[in-house]
Amino acid sequence: MGHSPDVNDVWDLVVVGGGPAGAAAALRARQLRPGARVLLLDKAGFPRDKACGDGIAAHGRDELTLLGLPGLIDDYRPTSRLSVVSPSGSRVSAEAARPNHVVPRRVFDARLVEAARARGVEVRRHRVRAIDQSGPYPVIDAGIAARAVVAADGAHSVLRRLVGIPPNTAQHTAIAVRGYADVPGSDDAQLIAMQKEGWPAYAWSFPIGDGTANVGFGMLLPRLHALGSPGREVLYGRLTELLPDRPARELRAHHLPLSSGRPAPGAGRVMLAGDAASLINPLTGEGIYYALLSGRLAGEAAVEAPGDPLPVYRRKLRAALGPHLRTTDVLARLAQSPGFIDAAIGTAARRKEVFDLLVEVGLGAGMVPLPMALAVGRRWLRESVSNLLPGARRG
Ligand SMILES: Cc1cc2nc3c(=O)[nH]c(=O)nc-3n(C[C@H](O)[C@H](O)[C@H](O)COP(=O)(O)OP(=O)(O)OC[C@H]3O[C@@H](n4cnc5c(N)ncnc54)[C@H](O)[C@@H]3O)c2cc1C
Repeated sequence: MGHSPDVNDVWDLVVVGGGPAGAAAALRARQLRPGARVLLLDKAGFPRDKACGDGIAAHGRDELTLLGLPGLIDDYRPTSRLSVVSPSGSRVSAEAARPNHVVPRRVFDARLVEAARARGVEVRRHRVRAIDQSGPYPVIDAGIAARAVVAADGAHSVLRRLVGIPPNTAQHTAIAVRGYADVPGSDDAQLIAMQKEGWPAYAWSFPIGDGTANVGFGMLLPRLHALGSPGREVLYGRLTELLPDRPARELRAHHLPLSSGRPAPGAGRVMLAGDAASLINPLTGEGIYYALLSGRLAGEAAVEAPGDPLPVYRRKLRAALGPHLRTTDVLARLAQSPGFIDAAIGTAARRKEVFDLLVEVGLGAGMVPLPMALAVGRRWLRESVSNLLPGARRG
């Protein structure tokens, strides 16, 4: 049974997890209500590493501005050059409409947590194991009571499980390995090389600007399981095979719960944000922007509706991402066929506005207007037919 803690001991907001989602929630709550009592718990001490491609989309930077931290990553080199290789091997290279950044998570996350601390958030090293929602306020680990809780504890969220929300099924989970490799300092093109074998699967190289690049390889979990070999062997092997000139060190793998399998955004007074809410783009594996965005919205809900934050959070999330997530749900299903992605990339190679749109859908909150979907669909159909009929003219 829950107990009734002394009201003076109740935190306005307890955030579990100090990654981008958790830090954003804590920062936003204090930004909107500077007097709010906000506690941020993380099992790790910062700086800490996190397996990630370290790619921060322009949309993520917009979120930093909204959080009052516009210059947080200005000392890292911006880059707009993007090269995408389709599953059948055709390449499109173009300038993205807005630059992205690559910032090692050891640096990025520590800066966010430090900014939260500077804004008056109390940061404690603490591994959360239990939550009791049976009393008037949720109580974490039998002693920490809160009006609102943000569960931002990542892909293997303990809180999500504790509040009765099951993890993503394997079908909606990817796994990826990342490492760091030496590259020429002048290399500033972000490369995404898609793979037909084991599709959907892709390798990436994201130069940081200091003579190193974050390199990695990821695929869907069921595809990995189907190969029957030890996961580490497959992932490390494919990475070496695909980027032979970039031997990687500091290899580290992690799961990616994809938004195609997203759950309800919380239960009771607990709001799930970031990876804990399965907010990872199923087409690209992008999750930092969604983590910052969802964390910010959860922080807003916590201070705007302290009595019942979850419905407010749900509404905000739906308004910000609903149509986009429905778009990526559909595209992720279509993308099961590598031919569809080939057609999309083929169209993007010819039409800059399609390239820009793909970037918006893959890294931001973009949607696909019908005429563009039809253009890709027509190309896909044409190519499928010409593949079936080897004599047919290719267009
Ligand atoms: C290999 C790989 C490459 C990726 N590349 C990119 C990329 O280039 N760009 C991009 O945008 N996204 C990328 N992603 C996705 C991105 O890493 C995540 O979406 C992002 O980290 C989500 O942030 P978060 O704050 O939700 O969770 P996390 O960053 O995972 O933070 C969760 C925090 O919770 C803490 N925690 C966990 N359990 C507990 C507990 N019980 N008690 C207390 N604290 C706890 C952890 O210590 C951690 O600090 C990649 C993912 C992987 C695996």
